Amino acid sequence: MTEISRVALITGAARGIGRAIALALAQPGLTLYLNDVVIGEEAEKTRQEVEAKGADARLLQFNVADTAAVQAGIDRIIQESGRLDLLVNNAGITRDNLVMRMKEADWDQVLEVNLKGAYNCIRAAAKPMIKQRGGRIINISSVVGVMGNPGQANYVASKAGLIGLTKAVARELASRNITVNAVAPGFIETEMTAALPEKVRAEMQAQIPLNRFGTPEEVAQAVVFLAGDAAAYMTGQVLHVNGGMLMV
Ligand code: NAD
Repeated sequence: MTEISRVALITGAARGIGRAIALALAQPGLTLYLNDVVIGEEAEKTRQEVEAKGADARLLQFNVADTAAVQAGIDRIIQESGRLDLLVNNAGITRDNLVMRMKEADWDQVLEVNLKGAYNCIRAAAKPMIKQRGGRIINISSVVGVMGNPGQANYVASKAGLIGLTKAVARELASRNITVNAVAPGFIETEMTAALPEKVRAEMQAQIPLNRFGTPEEVAQAVVFLAGDAAAYMTGQVLHVNGGMLMV
């Protein structure tokens, strides 16, 4: 975190990569809002783990695709904490199928959560960031948003869209001292990839020069870097964390 960064919001933070980002950022003096659409045992466990690292952790339920709910959530942050220094757009879903068989509802849902969700959060977060003359926005994209992947047209479109969104908003907000970057993870060990059949996992691993899936903690370190003072001169960039699977 930058020296002035005191309040952060991570979407989809109950588990997986979002949880790892929260734990990696957690430190005394930081208020961390952990958003998820489902606030249950997982989210509460994450909150306790983040608090154990000295941060003030608060659960914040909303669906990132629900524009009014996002605005209400960010309004609550400003009412309670007076500012918002860091937004990490991490919430994401998959509804995989070949494009010929992909249901319109599955296309819409993935775009609504993964891409419109980020737009909703950026729009609501940019206002306080502009007012306080600084902030950081980090969007979690994916390697497949750059490479493509069969069976994931909706997800790939959303993740490629996030990269375009990152670049456009980076140009819009740079003069306000707000940086906007993306992290593009490769295949990471989370519930999202645990659901894949063993044969598919083996095929994926064969494409990775480092010959293993990454960990959520390894993705989180890229976010910590982009959120910190060391990345002050970076904006509109995509940081790839993929074991060498794609070299750009
Ligand atoms: P995950 O499914 O383990 O966790 C995602 C979290 O987001 C869950 O807690 C879920 O409840 C929450 N969420 C889902 N929809 C939401 C909504 N509408 N509003 C708020 N929260 C919502 O997934 P993960 O693997 O930790 O993925 C996190 C991000 O990283 C996603 O954007 C994903 O696309 C991206 N990513 C993952 C991988 C991977 O290999 N796991 C690779 C590249 C990118």
